[in-house]
Amino acid sequence: MSLPRRILFGALALALLGAGLGFVFQSQLATAMYERRVERQMSLDRIGDLPDGLHIAFCGTGSPLPDPSRAPSCAVVIAGDRLFVVDSGAGSVSNLLLMGIPAGEIEAVLLTHFHSDHIGGLGDLALQRWIGTGHTEPLPVMGPPGVETVVAGFNQAYSLDATYRTGHHGEVIAPPSGFGMVAEPFNIAGYDQTAPTKLLENGGLTIWAVAVDHAPVSPSVAYRFDYQGRSLVMSGDLVAEASPGFQALAAGADLLVVEALQPRLLDFINDGARARGNDRLDTIMTDIRDYHTTPEQAAVAASTAQAQALVLNHIVPAVPSRSLNAAFLGDAAGAFSGPIRIAEDGLVVSLPAGDDTVSFQSWR
Ligand SMILES: [Zn+2]
Ligand SMILES: [Zn+2]
Repeated sequence: MSLPRRILFGALALALLGAGLGFVFQSQLATAMYERRVERQMSLDRIGDLPDGLHIAFCGTGSPLPDPSRAPSCAVVIAGDRLFVVDSGAGSVSNLLLMGIPAGEIEAVLLTHFHSDHIGGLGDLALQRWIGTGHTEPLPVMGPPGVETVVAGFNQAYSLDATYRTGHHGEVIAPPSGFGMVAEPFNIAGYDQTAPTKLLENGGLTIWAVAVDHAPVSPSVAYRFDYQGRSLVMSGDLVAEASPGFQALAAGADLLVVEALQPRLLDFINDGARARGNDRLDTIMTDIRDYHTTPEQAAVAASTAQAQALVLNHIVPAVPSRSLNAAFLGDAAGAFSGPIRIAEDGLVVSLPAGDDTVSFQSWR
């Protein structure tokens, strides 16, 4: 072999060796980073790290409209060391776990109503809570009448999976008595009534429910949590203006969480549907406007309630970029002078006991 060819082959061999070593190094680096990530995730103590008080962690802030960055409705209300889930949309359980929330410690679920985007994750949620700490009692699910039907359906659908889990992991990890959910229905007055129903009062925590107007969906309720002098209200889906019970429940709450639909952005979907002769989509996008609340109406409700802060969730339509936040909010800031936050999956809002602050962070 001539000298130039030898040099060429030598250089090629070195390059291949370098690439191989680079690949090995890259793989080792990625594995080490993975190990650190697992270690970090497993040492998280999200609840223990919070100050005593009332907190709300959003595991789903979207709606039935597809949104790559938002799962359908789900929020975890944390009162001291107690965890309550309000609504469980499909896909929100992954968010809940990714946020480091210990599913095994969930005390109960509260459903606002039985639209699919509020219940689709219930089966997975009950499964995670069961296996999370080997519960021997099913997960309590509170809701207005109808909750029995929803719970019975999920229990039946997951009954085969339950036998697989116990068969595979044993009765200590998956005790058969702890599988599934138990419905705890409560009675509620009509949505033209203002008197709330007290659902729970112990350990310094009180939970209230009141009916709201989400017609033709009935019953549909909003919830209020009071703990250590702090309070928050979750609206569920509703027409806030037509729900006097919601206004009464919201009065004086530190934090108001209200679902929001921005008609001016929805108009673009209607325009597109009409331009393509898609009457079905046009009709649906028109129908949904009459049983939701706009950001501006939510701001009026927050102002009337004299709330400290307003969080909008159940975002309709999907807002794919924060650069659209101003367009989504519209004139809301003109109606409410406090902070208005468009919720994203992973958002946590804290109301510490003993002061009157409201703070925001992300667990994503
Ligand atoms: Zn909904
Ligand atoms: Zn709904």
